[in-house]
Amino acid sequence: MIKSIPYISPSKFYYWKKCPLKAVFFYEYKNTQFFPRHPDADIGNVIHNFYENRYKWKITNEKIFSRKWNELITKLNKEYKNSNLQSRYFPVQWYSNFYSVKKQLLKKYLLSSAKRKKSHTNIKNEEWIKDDKNTIAGKADLLIYNNYGIITEIADFKTGKIFEKENNKLKIRKAYKTQLALYAKIIIDKQQSKPITLIIDISGKKHPVEITSDEIDKTYNEAKELKHSINTALLKNKVSELANPDNENCFMCNYRPVCVAYKQKFMNFPINNNIDICGKVLISNTNLIKIENEQGVFQIVNFRENITLNNKNICVYNLYFPDMGNKILYAQNNTIVKYE
Ligand code: SF4
Repeated sequence: MIKSIPYISPSKFYYWKKCPLKAVFFYEYKNTQFFPRHPDADIGNVIHNFYENRYKWKITNEKIFSRKWNELITKLNKEYKNSNLQSRYFPVQWYSNFYSVKKQLLKKYLLSSAKRKKSHTNIKNEEWIKDDKNTIAGKADLLIYNNYGIITEIADFKTGKIFEKENNKLKIRKAYKTQLALYAKIIIDKQQSKPITLIIDISGKKHPVEITSDEIDKTYNEAKELKHSINTALLKNKVSELANPDNENCFMCNYRPVCVAYKQKFMNFPINNNIDICGKVLISNTNLIKIENEQGVFQIVNFRENITLNNKNICVYNLYFPDMGNKILYAQNNTIVKYE
């Protein structure tokens, strides 16, 4: 187990505050991929890459854009094809939601902004920033400087949904607002002036995010306290006390296979029609397996993996559980098996 966490990540702070154990697992399992990634995440990274390197790659016309796009997608597909976890999503063009729409929106934005020939000399992308006390650190997507070296704007690119409903009104997602508040805090401490905080969506549209100085300070203090409490728990060997297993936090959490708190509370029980089960394999045929555990016998249909009947326990993650009245589960694209 790691001895301490080095920083609170601004982009993850919102989620770590809800379950601090996620922060420990984030650093502990940095290089472990537990579940297949949905291609939307990787297409999001490709888009990020374009925003970051558009001047370096000289994306000024359709031909250059298409050549670069195809190069990156071909590279991604090659990785998917050679990976046990990712090959189920090969080719990414088939599985990424709104693949062509995303590509078109990006192209339209990049080519129209290239035409406007805006100065980009005062722009920095993917800049690593941290506070002096080593509490928070992360890569800011976009920083805009004025001629005196003062950061006037800070923006984060988001390729997914950027709004959520609050009291029947659409607002920028809280996770994004806290992320920008922490970036703003780092910058304010260095230059004594507050930058404009923005989210840029996939079509290149800028959405200003209003954050007061009080909100910035409050968020920073919370991040400081969170880091302190996590590192105190690590020091005292009380990591399990950091877990906060509940439906919202644990649903699709990447650390379920290594999380004891999750297994104790949710293994073999559904969250939002999704269930992970562990048990002994009774029958394994093409397309169907039966697993027995203390909740009874579950049937899994559409199962693609070959399971050997060796009396060992297996755990199957990401099954669809449409009807609580029976124990018929459906394997999905992201269903995986772990042997105990
Ligand atoms: S599975 Fe639940 S309890 Fe475990 S780290 Fe994830 S959110 Fe926290």
